[in-house]
Amino acid sequence: MELLLRSTRVVTPDGTGPAAVAVTGGRIEAVLPYATPPGGAARVEDFGDDVLLPGLVDTHVHVNDPGRSEWEGFPTATRAAAAGGITTLVDMPLNSLPPTTTVAHLRCKQAAARGRVHVDVGFWGGALPGNRGDLRPLHDAGVLGFKSFLSPSGVEEFPHLAPGDLDAVAPEVAGFGGLLIVHAEDPGRLAGAPQPGGPRYADFLASRPHDAERDAVTSLLAAVRRHGTRVHVLHVSSARVLPVLAGARAAGLPVSAETCPHFLTLTAEEVPDGATEFKCCPPIREAANRDALWSALATGTLDCVVSDHSPCTADLKVPDFARAWGGISSLQLGLPAVWTEARRRGHGPGDLARWMATAPAALAGLHTKGAIAPGRDADFAVLAPDETFTVEAAGLHHRNPVTAYAGRTLHGVVRSTWLRGRRIADHGTPLTEPTGRLLERA
Ligand SMILES: [Zn+2]
Repeated sequence: MELLLRSTRVVTPDGTGPAAVAVTGGRIEAVLPYATPPGGAARVEDFGDDVLLPGLVDTHVHVNDPGRSEWEGFPTATRAAAAGGITTLVDMPLNSLPPTTTVAHLRCKQAAARGRVHVDVGFWGGALPGNRGDLRPLHDAGVLGFKSFLSPSGVEEFPHLAPGDLDAVAPEVAGFGGLLIVHAEDPGRLAGAPQPGGPRYADFLASRPHDAERDAVTSLLAAVRRHGTRVHVLHVSSARVLPVLAGARAAGLPVSAETCPHFLTLTAEEVPDGATEFKCCPPIREAANRDALWSALATGTLDCVVSDHSPCTADLKVPDFARAWGGISSLQLGLPAVWTEARRRGHGPGDLARWMATAPAALAGLHTKGAIAPGRDADFAVLAPDETFTVEAAGLHHRNPVTAYAGRTLHGVVRSTWLRGRRIADHGTPLTEPTGRLLERA
């Protein structure tokens, strides 16, 4: 072994407890008893009672680079990720220009990322009306799956799938064993909701009703029944979706789902009017709804917790919920935000690892990521679980100092982050040159 990492709280798939993790060649060689002596010239790092988690895998990040890199970029996003305990992120296919909808566009995105990333980065492709012929080539070129919208995406270069388009895309993706990840809000329900605009959060919430999510997931699952496509429901916000998802799982349909830190930690009741840093679609909902999302994580109806980090420049967050750009910036804060609420609800670090590392890695087919187990990459986050800090937007590493968490005091300080056995961030500061790699489907 080259490196031996010790902690009294190592989180493995078998549980949390004292252990020593032996690392060789950037991979985990073995998980050993705590007191195992280092062999030969191995270096020892002892984290004491800090929690040794697998490096987090965030499968929902909008890096926006190239094309809208003033909103975010590969260097800034991956520095924020490293500081926040994330060792792998997967970039969404939209908001960059070009969007990742052809192999040539994928090559363009990879060129923008190469040599500039502090964590490992994979790519989702996009499935649009009319690019069906690009999907298999993108799959073969290494994208991890395909994102689609069932309602307008917010950018004109990424149109949504009408029901007929979904019936063209779904069998195509099923045909090569691919994965379809879906923004599920029903366009008819959205169009039928009141859209007054303005600064009132209650008006915005009414414009994105619960039933828009429920109806879209219901029609998506009908397409799964017709075509057998493996699907993943992105950013579940409404608890009304949960019985639909649970029923589909009970029926054996190949469906998984995620929610996001902001849906688990923030509530509609506390969003100040005009505070569009809280705007996202689907929206942050009521406190009772939040409780139901936590229950669904506990029972396994929801699998993953990922950021949906979707930043923009500060000037686009005008105090009008109809006109402001929708998206919450939280890449660096997901771990402490979720932990703050999780610990209050009786969850342990093993739950965090499952929701924020193991399940997202499995979703994206990244089989060397997401767990502290022999053969996996030596990717880790070291968390001081009882320490607190107060969020200052300007102290975060993502590109623009806007976040819905500003001023909040959170539990859980990320002490250090490790990628393939190398420390890449220390006490919130990303270190060294960018040593992340670009990942492709295995
Ligand atoms: Zn998103």
